[in-house]
Amino acid sequence: MSATLVDANCPRRISDLARRVLDGGEISRAEADWLFSLESSADIFDLMAGANRLREHFKGNKIHLCSIVNAKAGSCSENCSFCAQSSFHQTGSPKYGFVDPEPVREAAEEAGSHNVTALGLVAAWRGLREGPMLDEVCDRIRELAAGGKTRPDASLGIIESQAVADRLKEAGLECYGHNLESSRRFFPRHCTTHTYEHRLNTIRYLKNAGLKICSGGILGMGESREDRCDLAFALKEIGANVVPINILNPIQGTPFENNPPLAPLEVLKTIACFRFILPRQEIMVAGGRTVNLRDLQSLIFAAGASALMVGNYLTTLNQPVEKDLQMLKDLGLDPNWDKHDFSDQEEIPAPPDRRENCGKEAAVV
Ligand code: SF4
Repeated sequence: MSATLVDANCPRRISDLARRVLDGGEISRAEADWLFSLESSADIFDLMAGANRLREHFKGNKIHLCSIVNAKAGSCSENCSFCAQSSFHQTGSPKYGFVDPEPVREAAEEAGSHNVTALGLVAAWRGLREGPMLDEVCDRIRELAAGGKTRPDASLGIIESQAVADRLKEAGLECYGHNLESSRRFFPRHCTTHTYEHRLNTIRYLKNAGLKICSGGILGMGESREDRCDLAFALKEIGANVVPINILNPIQGTPFENNPPLAPLEVLKTIACFRFILPRQEIMVAGGRTVNLRDLQSLIFAAGASALMVGNYLTTLNQPVEKDLQMLKDLGLDPNWDKHDFSDQEEIPAPPDRRENCGKEAAVV
């Protein structure tokens, strides 16, 4: 038998924190750091029990499903170290220009047939400016919104003017995906062609336009637990509505190709910590789920996840949607929504204008 020492006070301390959050309170940064530091599987399962209770209290048994359609692939000008689509890395990932209406329509049909709440239009490029491409993007969003199969979302990179965010909103976009990816401190370790400040400013324009924010990050890039905790608090501060947690799937040809995988329990613990810090947000487990969690995938909900990316990811495959739907059914969870409108979440004002800082972090790296 294993002789791992377990602190007998741990379950009570975790349950006191869960009680406080259930009652509408918050955990402090020091308390969150302590949760992230838990090591034994007994403590992690206690933490997950608390996170599961928080999910049930704030989210009921509803699970938000999201899928994506790659609207423009490869040859991206940015150098994100985890990404197969960067032109800086030799990965053999597909490359194509902006898609025609038909593939987007087909993706919406398929998403609708599986009760997927939202379909995100995703493009591999630095960002979106005013011009003919923005017109085309707005056409695709209008078509998606008019089709009424799923909520039209998009993830189209950095935005550097309010007018662009306003145009997307006018076209019928409801939620924009723009990950902070990691902590401010760690960000330059995975990207030097744009900065954390560019990302915060994009979020500011989006929020000012009245769009909902989908923003999270990637685990397993070499970041510390402190970086993960920083990320969760930053997402709380910007008022992210959906928080995707991706787990690095190291792609051959990228600088992170040899990163060691995170232990599944470390991933589950991180999801649970995010639930304690972000009790009302949709915490969505996204890319890298099947490869990193394997048979433990269904435990993400016990760890506090309330949303799931289904269908294939941008450059890697996922398990079939039918299998995910069966997993939800077996857990007594329900992906069916009449209307998913984020009305259970508090409105957080847009982050301050930090345009004067854009570029400085990139320049010193
Ligand atoms: S993550 Fe996005 S911005 Fe970064 S290289 Fe990939 S497609 Fe480009």
